[in-house]
Amino acid sequence: MRLKKLLVLSLAAVMGLSLAACGSKSDDSSKEKTYKIASDTTFAPFEFENKDGERVGIDLELLEAIAKEEGFKYEIDAVGFDAAMASVENGQSDGMIAGMSITDERKEKYDFSDPYYTSKVCFATEKGSDIEKLEDLKGKNVVAKVGTVGANYAEEMSKKYDFDVKQVESSAMMYQEVTSGNAAACFEDYPVMNYEITENGQKLEVPFISDEGSEYGFAVLKGENSELIDMFNSGLKKIKDNGKYQEIIDKYAKEK
Ligand code: GLN
Repeated sequence: MRLKKLLVLSLAAVMGLSLAACGSKSDDSSKEKTYKIASDTTFAPFEFENKDGERVGIDLELLEAIAKEEGFKYEIDAVGFDAAMASVENGQSDGMIAGMSITDERKEKYDFSDPYYTSKVCFATEKGSDIEKLEDLKGKNVVAKVGTVGANYAEEMSKKYDFDVKQVESSAMMYQEVTSGNAAACFEDYPVMNYEITENGQKLEVPFISDEGSEYGFAVLKGENSELIDMFNSGLKKIKDNGKYQEIIDKYAKEK
């Protein structure tokens, strides 16, 4: 009698264990692994170094909140936008979060999460410049950041409006080219340019915002780390539902 009871109990324990294992969203390896996530360097308010030298921003806080919800570990490698894409492509990083626009062309190489932010490309000039529209860039030099949708857009428009595009590695270099007078304008995502001007006192202004919008997504190499995309999507939904997502967005909208 006793033996039977013990048997039933231990059976129940085994069943309970395997049930628990089935119930978890991802297998144990995704919990133990430390995912390497590549990011941009200067792309405020999504990722940047604050005055205390800490890496902060919407992307980093979203990922932190999502990882907490889903229970996975990761480390951030801030290498720059183009370098982040290369690092995912060659398998050095498991994923990237870098204000990366979801485009059809990129979908051939990467798998994206659900979109988490909507953006548009704009161009910025030095404050007080008389350049107002694409036509005014005729015969001038402009800058864009390598590998970005802003650079694609600038290259496309340069053929139509006859200006020269120089591509640089980082947004910081891009702003510098314009404030130093080397370039008449830089092409950047509007939320980022706006933050630089209003929050970081960048002496630039935005005379033009394109009509074409894009949405930002977290990305992995196509066909790889699909559990990471699943966890990101699931965590994103949770933090949208519990208000954390909005809290993070609002924090950077208000920050000085
Ligand atoms: N959203 C732009 C793109 O995906 C720029 C991203 C960035 O510079 N970090 O191309």
